[in-house]
Amino acid sequence: MKTVRVDTNTPYDILIERGLLDRSGELVRSVSAAKKACVITDSNVGAIYAERVLTSLKEADFETELFTFPAGESSKRLDTVAAMLSYMADFHMSRGDIVVALGGGVTGDMAGFAAATYMRGIKFVQIPTSLLAQVDSSVGGKTAVDIPQGKNLVGAFHQPCLVIIDPDTLSTLPERFVHDGMAEVIKYGCIKDERLFETLENENALDIIEDIIEICVSIKRDVVNRDEKESGERMLLNFGHTLGHSLEKLYNFEGLSHGEAVAIGMVKIAASGENAGLTEAGTADRIERLCKKNMLPTSDEASAATLAELCQSDKKAGGGSVNLVLLDKIGSSFIRKTPLSELEAFIR
Ligand code: MG
Repeated sequence: MKTVRVDTNTPYDILIERGLLDRSGELVRSVSAAKKACVITDSNVGAIYAERVLTSLKEADFETELFTFPAGESSKRLDTVAAMLSYMADFHMSRGDIVVALGGGVTGDMAGFAAATYMRGIKFVQIPTSLLAQVDSSVGGKTAVDIPQGKNLVGAFHQPCLVIIDPDTLSTLPERFVHDGMAEVIKYGCIKDERLFETLENENALDIIEDIIEICVSIKRDVVNRDEKESGERMLLNFGHTLGHSLEKLYNFEGLSHGEAVAIGMVKIAASGENAGLTEAGTADRIERLCKKNMLPTSDEASAATLAELCQSDKKAGGGSVNLVLLDKIGSSFIRKTPLSELEAFIR
């Protein structure tokens, strides 16, 4: 079993191994003396995995309940969280009890937020089942819900007490979801780790997925450790995301998945960096080839003007400028504060 230790105020471990789902009970027991465990999942993931996790929890002497909500981003609302909280109260959960979030990013975000607010905060364990959630949401402690005014506008920082990653869950995902996560994996190679990038170029990622997940969560752990409140270095994790978010918004978060939008964003911003003489020549081509290898799109018709305009309404755009993440070369990244007035020309 691979273990990545995350040193936040209350340190926790990320455990990675095929088949861990069936050991989830003993693993949760190792971090909690709780009487009750509430498993929170969505209708898709729950139908496949909930029973195994509940069985394992019962074997470890937890009283269990299961809260299932309809799968999809459209469930990521305050009223879903309100229903979770009521459910937990009806189950008479106390401060010492525990929430187990079983699913992808939406589940982790909402179950984490429910755990952060129930009785002013109780423990929770994450069992991320999508590649995106495994490499991206298991570090950082961000929980959130959407409100009509914007995505992730309401939330809290709340660290899990344990993360259990069973890469076998990836084999049951529709392929598009694995590709979606691969965009973030490629991102980690781009910003911090040329060797990871080369490995992805040369190997079939799924064959060595445990190593890849370990490398990605370790990179994110190191970045977040150095920057707990997202002021400086953590911004590097947004490589490809500024333009990616614009594209997601352009298509109303429906036409492109997050990873697909990030893939296009990475290629575009790398090409812009090359044009400005800031990025080593050939970088955008390499990223494009690797994205294509992973069935990710690498271009879009949207004009620079449209993208620049959509950036302006992005919450990360503050004070008339935007912090663009650029690469010197694969594996090395930096932040360039760019006035919004120059953004269109920069990405044209
Ligand atoms: Mg992302």
